[in-house]
Amino acid sequence: MDFSLTAEQQDYRDAIRALCKKFPDSYWRELDAHKRYPEDFVRALTDGGWLSVMIPTDYGGAGLGIVEACLILEEVNASGGNAAACHAQIYTMGALLRHGSEAQKRKHLPEIAAGRLRLQSMAVTEPEAGSDTSRITTFARKVDDGYLVNGQKVFTSRVQHSDLLLLLARTARAEDVPRKTDGMSLFLVDLRQARSAIEVRPIETMVNHETNALFITDLHLSDDALVGEEGNGFRHVLDGLNAERILIASESIGDARWFVDRSVAYAGERVVFGRPIGANQAVQFPIARAFMHAQAASLVRWQAATLFDAGASCGAEANTAKLLASEAAWEAAEMAMTTHGGSGMAVEAGIERKFREARLYLVAPVTNNLVTTYVAEHVLGLPRSYGTGGST
Ligand SMILES: Cc1cc2nc3c(=O)[nH]c(=O)nc-3n(C[C@H](O)[C@H](O)[C@H](O)COP(=O)(O)OP(=O)(O)OC[C@H]3O[C@@H](n4cnc5c(N)ncnc54)[C@H](O)[C@@H]3O)c2cc1C
Repeated sequence: MDFSLTAEQQDYRDAIRALCKKFPDSYWRELDAHKRYPEDFVRALTDGGWLSVMIPTDYGGAGLGIVEACLILEEVNASGGNAAACHAQIYTMGALLRHGSEAQKRKHLPEIAAGRLRLQSMAVTEPEAGSDTSRITTFARKVDDGYLVNGQKVFTSRVQHSDLLLLLARTARAEDVPRKTDGMSLFLVDLRQARSAIEVRPIETMVNHETNALFITDLHLSDDALVGEEGNGFRHVLDGLNAERILIASESIGDARWFVDRSVAYAGERVVFGRPIGANQAVQFPIARAFMHAQAASLVRWQAATLFDAGASCGAEANTAKLLASEAAWEAAEMAMTTHGGSGMAVEAGIERKFREARLYLVAPVTNNLVTTYVAEHVLGLPRSYGTGGST
């Protein structure tokens, strides 16, 4: 297999690099210190059309594949930025594209592609259900002119920076359906109309991630808010997981590259005991190992992305890429902290911020334990060790 980039793909990567140069370390440090959203950065990516690359040309997007989306997100993180602020704009619309009605697609996708509308928030996780999505209890009760939704969500990210929200809710109780993954439905909520029916409480986390608890009380949704088939929402969400895992893996690979680059530079210039610290094997080996592990993860990621774009099954590769890439990023983060000695702790160096950000992807959007159970069961044929699993 040849995973080399085409001239066009290299141009995209160069363009993203140039864009990211305008948003240096100091920009991200300042936002992190004040827990602010990178509005200027997201606007620049949107205006450049980078967040709508996967929207088909019929709906005003670039009609490109996940390979190009991977390039974008990887370069953002490799530049020192944090693509988490807007990555969901690329993959959340996938549910709408695959399962939405033609009317929903015509209404929203061109607006998203033009950058006039943001769909970058998805509410699946609930406090009591955790990774076992089948246990969600947020309920959308059928009423004459639509649905009435009540419930609670947790860790719903970027809701303040999104016009639309994808919401997974039960439309039938788990006890009343043959399989507990039945009876869930996916809704497209217009947040501009929801107003006080959704109370948003920010959750302070160790990363600047704009994540929230949602308290939903008598939220009225019209029938046309339903995406796909009623009762089949869990499977509609599952359909998008491969894309999400491949893209998150790309961010982790970008993080790993950033840690390695910074560490190579520091190890070359920091002189202790009369020589650069990088001349010591105890310093250079962890850097080289982190580099190699990130390269290996990157290859599996390209394999997954290439299969995805060819419309082939890629669950094994996407899950493997997510796990290997997040672990490679975390290994690189640890390595960079050690390489930088006390300076790694100094906020100005940026290492501690990226260290915190890289940690997230061991847990979200799905924990690596659940990724491992997928591979154990679906790839290796081992007995099922958990319920239904799989969050966002
Ligand atoms: C910053 C941030 C942003 C997020 N953004 C979103 C978002 O936008 N939308 C959204 O819906 N969710 C979001 N999430 C939620 C995220 O998807 C969940 O945190 C994640 O899926 C894990 O669920 P949990 O936290 O409930 O952990 P739990 O399910 O409670 O798991 C706790 C630990 O137990 C382990 N565990 C549980 N069961 C098993 C088992 N059977 N076998 C082995 N290990 C097991 C898990 O792997 C984990 O290590 C976000 C989370 C964070 C931290």
